[in-house]
Amino acid sequence: MHPLTPIVPPLAMLHCVSDSAGGSLANWYISRKAFLQLLDTLEEAQYQTTHFAELTEQKKSGGFSRKVILTFDDCAKHLLDFAVPELVKRKLKAAFFMPTAYIGGYNAWDVEKGAERMELMNEEDLKELVRLGMEVGSHSHHHVQLKNLSGTEKLRQEVRLSKELLQDITGRPVYSFAYPFGSVPDDYRTVLSSAGYHYGLSIYQPFETKLALRRFGVYEKDTPATLRKKLSGRYRWMRTLYDAVKKN
Ligand SMILES: [Zn+2]
Repeated sequence: MHPLTPIVPPLAMLHCVSDSAGGSLANWYISRKAFLQLLDTLEEAQYQTTHFAELTEQKKSGGFSRKVILTFDDCAKHLLDFAVPELVKRKLKAAFFMPTAYIGGYNAWDVEKGAERMELMNEEDLKELVRLGMEVGSHSHHHVQLKNLSGTEKLRQEVRLSKELLQDITGRPVYSFAYPFGSVPDDYRTVLSSAGYHYGLSIYQPFETKLALRRFGVYEKDTPATLRKKLSGRYRWMRTLYDAVKKN
């Protein structure tokens, strides 16, 4: 395979879709209007959504033209009020990443640093996502910086336990893992593959592999033009160069 051939479709990273401001977490919020703009842009450019479970089960490793994967980290409860119904209405799919220690709870990892409290999905919500054709993936157990746990048994537990819990709840295999804070441990390849993951999602990633994939963020300031640029192969190629010099 040519080194610049994409190993997955472009990956959009989202967290919260809400018209509340989000306080100190505002960077991770987009308004309902901005979310509709994203979905309209995808539809106008004739993009189809997929997710990692579908890629794995259909053994797809190419043919990603006009495909995109929408990813939501943290599984905020409010996504069920607007974002998820809007995806379902348009027959779109997405992948949702849950830190399993906080199922049915709140974003304790942010709150302990003084941020706003945000309710997270419970077991029934996660089952409902799967019933709607969405993917539920792991976002570790405790939502910690995994790079700091490189080479430790605790890292292996964070990765394994969350997978087992989600599989028990949803009755579906868990194929994908989103690193909290985009923090990729040094031994990510062995840790993720021995736990049975097929895909790992980071944010900035100079040397992209299936277990450390790069995502682009969707922000309030995005326009249809910036979104189309982020979806393009050329942007992805530029990120390969840019991320190599950016501090992780
Ligand atoms: Zn997160």
